[in-house]
Amino acid sequence: MPTLLIENLDSQPCQNCQGGRKHLQTVTLMTWLGDDLITVPDFPAWICDLCGHRLYDSEALAQLSLLLNPDAGTPIHPGLQNLPNKPAANINPPA
Ligand SMILES: [Zn+2]
Repeated sequence: MPTLLIENLDSQPCQNCQGGRKHLQTVTLMTWLGDDLITVPDFPAWICDLCGHRLYDSEALAQLSLLLNPDAGTPIHPGLQNLPNKPAANINPPA
């Protein structure tokens, strides 16, 4: 049943409140990069419709950490090349 498959891809049970469902949305990610607070608009995150718990998309986080790590090689996304060139992205989602 195609409709059910799509619905499963767009939402998942919330592990935080056990009752809500998380939906994939885009938010502005804020993270510390050394002493600099950087923001990444339109970042994919799973938001719970009941408790509001936020979980950034793990694949996007992994890609971001690669982009922010100067040792990782050539950045894939040209729009992120102007970010401060410092090591160790410290990603801490707000509670
Ligand atoms: Zn929840």
